[in-house]
Amino acid sequence: MSVTQVSSSGLKDSLATRIDALRPELEQVSRDIYANPEIAYEEHKAVGWLTELLKRHGFSVEVGVASTPTAFVATRRQGDGPAIAFLSEYDALRGLGHGCGHNLIATASVGAGIALADLLDRHPGKVLVIGTPAEEGGGGKIRLIRGGIFQEVDAAMMFHPDTRTQVLHWALAVTHMHFEFTGRAAHASGDPEKGINALDAFVMAYNGISVFRQQLREGARLHGFLKEGGTAPNIIPERTSGEFLVRARDTAYMEELVQKVKNIFQAAALATGCSVKLSFEEEPYTDLRNNMVLAGLFEENLRRVGVHSVEGAPWENAGSTDMGNVSHVVPALHPTLGIAPADVPGHSQQFLEASGSLRGYQAMVDAAKALAMTGADLLADPGLVEKARAEFRRET
Ligand SMILES: [Zn+2]
Ligand SMILES: [Zn+2]
Repeated sequence: MSVTQVSSSGLKDSLATRIDALRPELEQVSRDIYANPEIAYEEHKAVGWLTELLKRHGFSVEVGVASTPTAFVATRRQGDGPAIAFLSEYDALRGLGHGCGHNLIATASVGAGIALADLLDRHPGKVLVIGTPAEEGGGGKIRLIRGGIFQEVDAAMMFHPDTRTQVLHWALAVTHMHFEFTGRAAHASGDPEKGINALDAFVMAYNGISVFRQQLREGARLHGFLKEGGTAPNIIPERTSGEFLVRARDTAYMEELVQKVKNIFQAAALATGCSVKLSFEEEPYTDLRNNMVLAGLFEENLRRVGVHSVEGAPWENAGSTDMGNVSHVVPALHPTLGIAPADVPGHSQQFLEASGSLRGYQAMVDAAKALAMTGADLLADPGLVEKARAEFRRET
């Protein structure tokens, strides 16, 4: 073993020890976020707890970056060197609390940032913890990209809890659409011929989407729900509304599908005599690009922590994330760590329980360690940052 390997190994042991020492503070904040779920752009408590912890450990914190009250950037810097960012998510699901485990993501990134920043006197550079709200719809990271937050970042990393531990992760491009059909109310028995049925319009659109599914390319997904379906059984429904998501493996095909879905909704409006209003949330999420330099380092560090990853088939069980958009701006990493058995669905009651379990908190700590160690690799050898950047440029 060479001298550098010995010192880098000692450095990594010290990061692990540091994160073990931080565990009570990290776990407390994670539990508080879990017990107080806040949805997109309402994550004020979570931001308060996370930034307080970061300030206590010497970070300078700016809350409300990119004109977004629940976004923040926490920084510690010493000298000149790479800028390593850990991304913290903390939003909950509408109606299901932390059924996606963002309480664990939040503190894993904060823990990694605090531990890594302690190495800055030996390896100069900048450590950032970026608070990114509204991942479950709302696209917080897209706002931060537009606000220029990633301009000086060399590598952006986070982990996501899952049923499997996988270093590489695939995510679909997605567009979030809202629809509203408007018809005319009428007595459903006395005057049905005077009514225009907005529920019929929805049923036709829903069926149109269902038959269209056979023609989709592999991996594309169309799914949604009805929010308002009428008010009483004896009134022809005057208004229906709801939301649909359109997903595909790349943005170009997703846009093609969005156009076809729009046509289906307009056809249903025409057929029933309703009017239809379609609106779209923010910018779409893009697919996720795995930076293989960062992935290689992370995999080795995860093994050092004692966690073994599996190789999954690309695109298996793919969802979407606004980390995809970040991965098109800077070299990025979005591995998963298993916190629940394989048969547990994401966004479910069981996954919610796993996100508040001992296994969940252990994964949070393991992820914090492997993320911090990967940051240490980059700070100690800026040549690796250049390699990650070169790969990123080749792929763009
Ligand atoms: Zn989710
Ligand atoms: Zn999630």
